[in-house]
Amino acid sequence: MTLQIYNTMTRRKETFVPIHPDKVNMYVCGPTVYDYIHIGNARPQIVFDVVRRYLEQIGYEVNYVVNFTDVDDRLIRKSMETGDPVPVIAEKFIQAFYEDIDGIGVRRATHNPRVLDHVEEIIAFIANLVEEGFAYESGKDVYFRTNRFAEYGKLSHQNLEELQHGIRVEVDERKENPEDFVLWKAAKPGEISWPSPWGEGRPGWHIECSAMARKFLGDTLDIHGGGQDLQFPHHECEVAQSESLTGKPLANIWMHNGYIHINNEKMSKSLGNGVIVKELRARYKMEAIRYFILATHYRNPLNFSEEAMMQAEKSAGRIVNAVQNLRHLLKSAEDAAEREPDEALQQKLADILDTFDAKMQDDFNTADAITAVFDWVNLVNSTMQQGSQDDRQTANLQALLDAIEAMNNVLGLVPEQEEEDLLDEEINRLIQERTDARKAKNWARADEIRDMLTAQGIILEDTPQGIRWRRK
Ligand SMILES: [Zn+2]
Repeated sequence: MTLQIYNTMTRRKETFVPIHPDKVNMYVCGPTVYDYIHIGNARPQIVFDVVRRYLEQIGYEVNYVVNFTDVDDRLIRKSMETGDPVPVIAEKFIQAFYEDIDGIGVRRATHNPRVLDHVEEIIAFIANLVEEGFAYESGKDVYFRTNRFAEYGKLSHQNLEELQHGIRVEVDERKENPEDFVLWKAAKPGEISWPSPWGEGRPGWHIECSAMARKFLGDTLDIHGGGQDLQFPHHECEVAQSESLTGKPLANIWMHNGYIHINNEKMSKSLGNGVIVKELRARYKMEAIRYFILATHYRNPLNFSEEAMMQAEKSAGRIVNAVQNLRHLLKSAEDAAEREPDEALQQKLADILDTFDAKMQDDFNTADAITAVFDWVNLVNSTMQQGSQDDRQTANLQALLDAIEAMNNVLGLVPEQEEEDLLDEEINRLIQERTDARKAKNWARADEIRDMLTAQGIILEDTPQGIRWRRK
């Protein structure tokens, strides 16, 4: 089996061959930190988190870079409105971003470079382009000279002529050609700015990714990712800048995730239908949000609705419950070390893991890989029904749990054991307190504890062996 990835540049699936045999360099364009992230920003975060997790699972060391755009028109506007300096606004929304991605189980990138820390590298990059004739100064701005890069348009599969038709004809006397794009913007009075060979100003948007990707990952990336909306012009401009300068491909594979629609409408601020992740997290569990994103292939469009989220919460809940039941049963079970699991069960688990892997190797097809996870859920249920007659039951349950851990390590749907252990401890402590309360005939307190646990989805059962509990 070899990993196949769809490459936007060539419009086909290709066998993945990294530059270094056991390492992967991956760059994904991150958010502009002027506001809380919405579900459209969360999709690439979750999609590329899973890509990264899978690459690590099959043995690669992944150097994963996600940038923060922390200076642009929107940050400047917000700064003028609020009176807070741009870096203060950026810092606030960077922390909010971390809170959100932590809350949806996205592992942090290796590096999160920021424009504010890399203006020097960006200026050097632009100066180099000017020197080579790929860029020109005009007024106090600097523009990329698009017609010097013959392949402009190759990523989005448009030629220069088509692009010229597509561009609104605006009289901009600063540009030699309408499709030229800005690398350095002269500062307007009161705006945040840096000194440069072209006067006080700040970087344009596209150049930051070329400069920061090069600094952290080198001239050619194994994978460059982002949302489909970034394909043109953002990524096209990155290609032009980087490849003009280095003469090498900027990325061997270009990956783009599809759009998210909200109730079948295009998502936009003006429609007021943006779904904020912070709000979504308050209403849905982490696994529901991840499931919603991952149950559709990353290149397909995805439609957000409350019904779809409720369905996702239900489906993801089946997986989480099966795992929690196994963990719970194994906690109180005899040591399984001496026994081998049932052979037929082992074979079924091996088949499930093979299917899961084959689907992931086929352009990270999480939608189909999740089907293998449900085969596993069914196997858990049938094995538990067979029950403890089988003296290999403990070993069987352990084999089931080991199998899901391999898949969950990629999808990240089920919270880690540690968090749950803490919760378990708390539940056990409450149950003990209730038992003590009953002994002391403090019925009110005993009932209060039972109600509290019920509210959290914990069901208590009186058995001859004492109180047992399970999650609803
Ligand atoms: Zn970018």
